[in-house]
Amino acid sequence: MNLILLGPPGAGKGSQGKSLAEKYSIPQISTGDILRVAVRDKTTLGVKAKSYMDRGTLVPDELVVEIVAERLKRDDCKAGFILDGFPRNISQAKAVERILKKIGKKIDHIINIEVSRKEIVKRLSGRRVCRNCGEGYHIIFNPPLDDKKCDRCRGELYQRDDDKEDTIEARLKVYEEQTAPLIDFYKKKDSLVSIEGIGGFKDITEKIVNAIVAR
Ligand code: AMP
Repeated sequence: MNLILLGPPGAGKGSQGKSLAEKYSIPQISTGDILRVAVRDKTTLGVKAKSYMDRGTLVPDELVVEIVAERLKRDDCKAGFILDGFPRNISQAKAVERILKKIGKKIDHIINIEVSRKEIVKRLSGRRVCRNCGEGYHIIFNPPLDDKKCDRCRGELYQRDDDKEDTIEARLKVYEEQTAPLIDFYKKKDSLVSIEGIGGFKDITEKIVNAIVAR
């Protein structure tokens, strides 16, 4: 079960990916999460990636491709994996094909989660994340019990710099120019299913699961 989740920032790739990872007992590989941890820990990767992330632009391909290549070799990917936030452009899509070919694997499902621009801005600007465990909240759709603390671990909640309004616009532009062309790229290969990412969380998960089962 090798899966790619495509979609604009705020489409729900992260939270749907998490739920699918639990359901199928396979890892969710989020390049955004990996990069945020690297920035927090000020690793070499983090130091290189930070300025791109702060501006809402893509981190150079050679850095992210290397992370994914290493991650996909690990044992826990044997039964499958969910790529969330990768690939982000055509060159990364070609890189993932090369990486998988080398280790004798291929992508089985590509799910494109569609959400309108207006809805995305609403979702991203209300998003809050736990600094400690990474749990996600939304001030309107999924509020924490206590404004500033994580329900799970009591860690501090914060707003990602790139979820602030100016950067959201930059990220959407990057999405439209660089990531959206992947929809046609994968459609031509006949391996993409688009689903509407609006509605109840569980209904959306069900739509994804149905798309997987139908193939
Ligand atoms: P995300 O959490 O997926 O929205 O990613 C947050 C930020 O991390 C993006 O705006 C990029 O700066 C960077 N990033 C995440 N994934 C990638 C990727 N596949 N390629 C390049 N940059 C990425």
